[in-house]
Amino acid sequence: MNDGRDIARTASVGVDLGGTNIRAAVFDDGMKILGRSEIPTEAQEGADGVIRRIAACVREALDRSSIAAEEVAGVGVGAAGLTDWRTGVVVLASNLGWRNVPLKERLQQELDGLRVEVDKDTNVAALAEARLGAGREFRHFLYVTAGTGIGGGLILDGTLYRGATGGAGDIGHVVVDPDGPRCGCGDQGCVEVFSSGAGMVDRAREMLARGKEAASSAMKVEGLTTETIFKAAGEGDAVAARVVETAGRALGLALADYVNINNPEAIILGGGVVRAGRAYMEPVERELSQRALPALGEIVKLVPPELGDDVGVTGAGLLLGESEKDGGRA
Ligand SMILES: [Zn+2]
Repeated sequence: MNDGRDIARTASVGVDLGGTNIRAAVFDDGMKILGRSEIPTEAQEGADGVIRRIAACVREALDRSSIAAEEVAGVGVGAAGLTDWRTGVVVLASNLGWRNVPLKERLQQELDGLRVEVDKDTNVAALAEARLGAGREFRHFLYVTAGTGIGGGLILDGTLYRGATGGAGDIGHVVVDPDGPRCGCGDQGCVEVFSSGAGMVDRAREMLARGKEAASSAMKVEGLTTETIFKAAGEGDAVAARVVETAGRALGLALADYVNINNPEAIILGGGVVRAGRAYMEPVERELSQRALPALGEIVKLVPPELGDDVGVTGAGLLLGESEKDGGRA
């Protein structure tokens, strides 16, 4: 079988496919970055155009690392949206406008047969934190990122747990108010409609439209952002403070439910709205400690992520090794 011409395929490529940018990084076998590339996604060009741009981004990162495609074990992709890791199909990605796009198969064609593995972006982020970041010391944790939306990934017993079709860890759609506002998923009162950046803006607009008086002149229906809300809340604006408090409470409630179901050691909680400050985190912590069963809640550590902007490419780069550990995937 071995003709003596085997080249050690020790490098890997990780791709972070977002609605705005495609980022690729080439890693050596110690997960050190050898080279990288970043280009705009241009989602309006359609799936085929985006997939060609991913391939171009991968080639550019390889060029910059002076690594040949033959030296690469494969390409891992973390895609923003619901992704079936077994088939490599992106089932639904609203920020890309994709529905049932066979990303793995199409990218493999574009890259002349190079191995490709695909997973949900929050799953690869959880994996990266587990192997190289804040999750290294934990065998059981939930990774949550709260930014424009809310997503998550589960590490159970040291392994990335994806569920039956890849959707495990989507904590953003845990319902915290059955009669609450309509969510993009079609349901009502999901944690995302209260606790995400986009949700907070919507809730604030709703309160203002109903005639709630905001003290801050920046709190207007038009042009409202999460930054405005956090700033106004800090200055004592009652509407803004209410929105931030509700956001933190809703997320804390969902996290407490998760703790009661899965008894994790830690929750790694990051993302733009979490970084915005204590006003958001205080109600999260309060609700978590009040609602989780004491014996389970007391041991949970709430910690920030460690990997920063490279979390996506790093987790994607780790995907290849991970699927080998699974003994080859379905
Ligand atoms: Zn929802």
